[in-house]
Amino acid sequence: MELEAELAAARDLDMAGIADAIERIGFECTRCGHCCKGMDEEHTATVFPDEIRAIQAGERGEWRDVARPMPYGLDADGEGETFEWALQTDDCGDCSFYDADGGACSIYADRPLICETYPFSIALGDGGATSEPMGSVVDCEGPVRAHECEGLGRAISRDEAEELAVTLKERAIRDLKEAIAVRENYEPVDVEGVVVHDSEGQKRPDGATLDAHD
Ligand code: SF4
Repeated sequence: MELEAELAAARDLDMAGIADAIERIGFECTRCGHCCKGMDEEHTATVFPDEIRAIQAGERGEWRDVARPMPYGLDADGEGETFEWALQTDDCGDCSFYDADGGACSIYADRPLICETYPFSIALGDGGATSEPMGSVVDCEGPVRAHECEGLGRAISRDEAEELAVTLKERAIRDLKEAIAVRENYEPVDVEGVVVHDSEGQKRPDGATLDAHD
């Protein structure tokens, strides 16, 4: 399915149906922190440019402190071109904002949509719609996908399921708008180092536009 058709389908998502699926699958966060930790590989969660700025606005450092170039597409030396940002990680490969001592997210109110909607995602058409969180798909109903999480199967209230459905739909629309903007703003580059083609253009790992550097 074309991205524009997926976006139209995302806008048409049946909220009651999504809430039904979430209610049937069930979920309650156990605060285990698995979705915030690297486990077998470095933690990888998509974060959009405006989400990065919202996190930064809470005096949480520079762009690099919040996000890193998504490694997919980069070569073995970590160089090349990529098309997304990922939440920054610490020396253990965990999300930089995971407070291991408290077992909690230190930026809870500003956490990205992918964290707000974990462990669910939306699949449309050939599978596209929201970016995939870490963890394999273990359950699905209609467009709703549930990824590995020990909180699955626990009772969820109708109000919470409906609230999560609204956020999931918002995320599906945001993901697709970002993907369309990345495609529209793409320009081939011929420079050394790392370039991130995001929805706003071409950037270096510090978030500065390529023009500002080169
Ligand atoms: S931003 Fe918060 S919720 Fe998201 S992965 Fe990091 S610690 Fe977990």
